Amino acid sequence: MPIHDDAERLLSEAQRFLRQQRELYGDLLPIEHGATEPMKRVTPPPPATPAPAGTDLFGEPDIPASSPVKGAATGTKLLPYPGEPWTSADSLVSLNEQICNCQKCALGSTRKSFVFGVGNPNADVVIVGEAPGADEDEQGEPFVGRAGQLLNKILEAIHFKREEVYICNILKCRPPNNREPQADEIGQCEPYLWKQLEIIKPKMILCAGRVAGQALLRTNASLTSLRGTVHDYRGIPLMVTYHPAALLRNPNWKRPCWEDVQKFRTLYDEMKAKEQSAR
Ligand code: SF4
Repeated sequence: MPIHDDAERLLSEAQRFLRQQRELYGDLLPIEHGATEPMKRVTPPPPATPAPAGTDLFGEPDIPASSPVKGAATGTKLLPYPGEPWTSADSLVSLNEQICNCQKCALGSTRKSFVFGVGNPNADVVIVGEAPGADEDEQGEPFVGRAGQLLNKILEAIHFKREEVYICNILKCRPPNNREPQADEIGQCEPYLWKQLEIIKPKMILCAGRVAGQALLRTNASLTSLRGTVHDYRGIPLMVTYHPAALLRNPNWKRPCWEDVQKFRTLYDEMKAKEQSAR
């Protein structure tokens, strides 16, 4: 076969391959210059499911609140404890001041510190863990110590600074001996998180660890099945990945965690790009 026929055949095959790639991956997935394989398809966050009229996203009776969480489907956020002054707090500082002596559950009597949360009060991204550990209880700040340092590195890897996001836990007080939070403790304390989110109005939530994911999503599903999916938490897109403390115990989980946070960042970037184009 003449050389130019061979070249034409190769060119035709290359063009057919590119057409197939475009059909498979669309505009979302340019093949990066120098990359050895195409980027993986990223599923955009699903639209929030409208709640039935008169209920919140958990199907519970809805109570009008002063300012609904940004991105919420319909209705407003349910805050129990009606009449307690903190429910109408309009800033994180004010909320913290009003709830820092909480004794709603037994953990209030064993804590050294009330661990409210730390970070940017206008953050786009909120990281939620399960509860303070020993270091956090000592210092009054979530995600400190070795696990906190690893969280900082994870954030840096996806181009977020610790001070740019907001970091908190479901429980504000340390469970004894770092045991898992109990359902009644979560039930008592989680409304504080709802109020924090109502004030911050984040665009996305990253849950650190199985316990936080299960608690917020009201499920017993394994971490494996919670990972890789964009969930809806009270109208806010939420993803679940490993807790940094778990990564310290088992470094083999760092790769799947890396994949999770890369996807989280991609979704965040897509959301920001949509915001920009809508302006
Ligand atoms: S864990 Fe939450 S509900 Fe329990 S005492 Fe602490 S702040 Fe209050």
